[in-house]
Amino acid sequence: MTATELKQRLLTPGPTAVPAEVLAELAKPIIHHRTKEFQAIFAELSALLQKVFKTEGPVLSIAGSGTTAFEAAQVCLVKPNSKVITCAGGKFGERWQDVYDVYSKFLNIEQIKINFDWGKAAPVDQIKKALDENPDVSVITICHSDTSTATASDVKAIAALAQKTDALLLVDGITSVGAFECEMDNWGIDALVTGSQKAMMLPPGLGYVGLGKRALKRLDEIEHDIPAYNLDLRKWVASHAKNDVPFTPPVALIRGQKVACELILKDGLDAKIAETKKLAKASREAFVAMGLELISDSPSESVTGVYYPEGVVDGKFRAGLRDNHGIHIAGGQSGRGAKWKGKIFRISHMGYVDFADTLACFAAMEVELAAQGFAIEQGVGVTAFEAAYNA
Ligand SMILES: *Cc1c(COP(=O)(O)O)cnc(C)c1O
Repeated sequence: MTATELKQRLLTPGPTAVPAEVLAELAKPIIHHRTKEFQAIFAELSALLQKVFKTEGPVLSIAGSGTTAFEAAQVCLVKPNSKVITCAGGKFGERWQDVYDVYSKFLNIEQIKINFDWGKAAPVDQIKKALDENPDVSVITICHSDTSTATASDVKAIAALAQKTDALLLVDGITSVGAFECEMDNWGIDALVTGSQKAMMLPPGLGYVGLGKRALKRLDEIEHDIPAYNLDLRKWVASHAKNDVPFTPPVALIRGQKVACELILKDGLDAKIAETKKLAKASREAFVAMGLELISDSPSESVTGVYYPEGVVDGKFRAGLRDNHGIHIAGGQSGRGAKWKGKIFRISHMGYVDFADTLACFAAMEVELAAQGFAIEQGVGVTAFEAAYNA
């Protein structure tokens, strides 16, 4: 078989595979968005998104990617002439620091950067100390699951800290929302963001911002000029209240997201989360059985990463998986805190990926690792994966 004839399996931690029902919905004729028909679909989607986000607040659907949505929350919710605490132990946490670096001169923001080791959870004590010492912090940013390091942080604990202060907690839930436990209202998350191409089972193109009461109040009270037009969340909130969006939406994606949310919620969000967790746990056990080392001390349930063993070349390994097996996984990323490009690889457990996809991935990884001279008994990973999954 040639590579193009292989069944393609996407196990990258974004974009992720899209179910056939969603693809069929995306193919429907385009309707105009300033219509009752669109508004009805949008209203249904908004209600479903609230269930996935576990919030009673509005969840805005913004054309763009996860970065668009998070940047919008960052620029609109920060107070001018204040401080922000930005936590980073991976590429995405670092990105939110970069965004505030850009806006700091427009809004006179001072950044308190809490950088911690890649592969470790955010240091809650250090965040508490920074909050205690700086009463003028207006925003805290944190990645719930930093996909670059396959690591989860204790957002529940950090939200409890933020709730005692005037600081709003902005959570990058791009690979936690819909994948593992993330209780926006119960925990007290002020703004929660995700993107369509991760656990939401949609192609790339939409970013979502859930807003809690304190965040809505902050938006209401804005009196300064904000350096944003399209990303001015006040416009999006006002339109959302009328089941509408301020600018032309990606109509097909809105429809598709409604169907994807129905699938996510079909057996309840808890069931979806439990399945993702099973895949993650079984994958970690399988990698360890194969003699590979996990990259995280605090593993995320949506993505698993391991270091390459000595002698295995990243490009060759992933090309082998792709060309010989139709399996797509991710390599590493490099940032300020670590240079993991070429050093690690990652597989996703979120969204539309199941036991059989992951089992096939382990079988293929064993073949390609052996092809590069790594001493591995064929079947070790597959057996461990299957045993842990069924345990
Ligand atoms: C994918 C991802 C992003 C970036 O999202 P884009 O949609 O590429 O802008 C941000 N944060 C995390 C944790 C991600 O996994």
